[in-house]
Amino acid sequence: MTIENNQKIPNGFSRREFLTVTAGAMAFVALGGFCCSPGNVRFTLPPLPYEDNALEPVISSRTMGFHYGKHHKGYLDNLNNLIRDTDYAKMPLENIITATAGNPETMAIFNNAAQTWNHTFYWNSLKPGGGGDPSGELKTLIESSFGSVDKCKEAFADAAVTQFASGWAWLTYDGQNIGVMKTSNADNPMTHGLNPLLTIDVWEHAYYLDYQNRRKDHVNEVIEKLLNWDFASQNLAIVAGIL
Ligand code: MN
Repeated sequence: MTIENNQKIPNGFSRREFLTVTAGAMAFVALGGFCCSPGNVRFTLPPLPYEDNALEPVISSRTMGFHYGKHHKGYLDNLNNLIRDTDYAKMPLENIITATAGNPETMAIFNNAAQTWNHTFYWNSLKPGGGGDPSGELKTLIESSFGSVDKCKEAFADAAVTQFASGWAWLTYDGQNIGVMKTSNADNPMTHGLNPLLTIDVWEHAYYLDYQNRRKDHVNEVIEKLLNWDFASQNLAIVAGIL
């Protein structure tokens, strides 16, 4: 299917919206999905894609235990309680996020839905023995967008270090270029019409037990040793239709 940017496709989405929704849905599938059935959905916590000590010494098993077992699970439990017996309980997680974004009345649902999604995406953005450089089409696009892979990594690190207070740094794809953005609290590139490719969690709970106030040291270690560029390539392939 060839669709120009902003051209409406049959379901009424613009191409960018379509890509975003598709990316979310496909990432959702790629991540193993959450429990989803017609009627009253109860989302379940996807298993970590590795053991809780697999990212040591960059991220300790103690941090993973709290982060996955308490924080991620907490967002998910809150979400299930908030959407019980509402129309949201019949919707895929990505649709809940886009449907509740920017509305003060649905802020609690948005925050917990987005944090549930963001954390699953984050676990998959990291892997034991990660880091290094991207390859293939992703590398080509990064070089055309930033000038070099190193400049992209610098921009990613800068976004993660300079995000004031809690939030996330993201590698994104807008349909043409690779970009970097930072978001506050639970916010996510999907609500900005962008496709997420990778993320780094810079809430203090992500690093404080291991690095205390040294967020920059944590971010640099994550980028050098844990980033899962294969996951970014898979996400790019899905949204860009490269596969
Ligand atoms: Mn977190």
